[in-house]
Amino acid sequence: MKGMAKGFAKTLRHLMRPAFTGKYPWEPKVLPPRSRTSFELALDENGVPTCRSCGLCERNCPDGAIHIVSEKNADGRGRTLRRFEIDFGICMFCGLCVENCPFGSIVHTGDFELAMTRREETHVVLYGMGGGGGTDAGASGTAENSQAEDNKDGGRES
Ligand code: SF4
Ligand code: SF4
Repeated sequence: MKGMAKGFAKTLRHLMRPAFTGKYPWEPKVLPPRSRTSFELALDENGVPTCRSCGLCERNCPDGAIHIVSEKNADGRGRTLRRFEIDFGICMFCGLCVENCPFGSIVHTGDFELAMTRREETHVVLYGMGGGGGTDAGASGTAENSQAEDNKDGGRES
């Protein structure tokens, strides 16, 4: 009897406390800032990605999920990014690419709602044309992007 009363009292105490659970998806969930979520490329003041096509993230991705197309600049200094794609189907969201980019050019967006139903959707293009475009990032398209298509033959697939 005493045990029942104790249990009942405890239940009552918990009833008075605010709920731990949220009403997701009706109330959007905001994840902590360091959460490993979807990706986007940081842009400069002209809306151009700050990515310098160094290829570090592509070479060091443990899953080989990053695919970059770039071309050498005419003056021989540096490269211009033409296409930046991540295959979300094999990315394990380890965050190495974000942590190790020397220019802070690839960042997490905070978006974690990445459910996709078709394999081709998982090829998410962060910059440039084409791909399945599983998230908003895949819809990017600028004049420069069109030029990237035009210059595809001269591009380097690194
Ligand atoms: S995102 Fe960063 S590491 Fe990857 S190619 Fe661009 S500049 Fe290099
Ligand atoms: S989060 Fe990890 S697995 Fe995904 S693209 Fe970046 S380095 Fe590769």
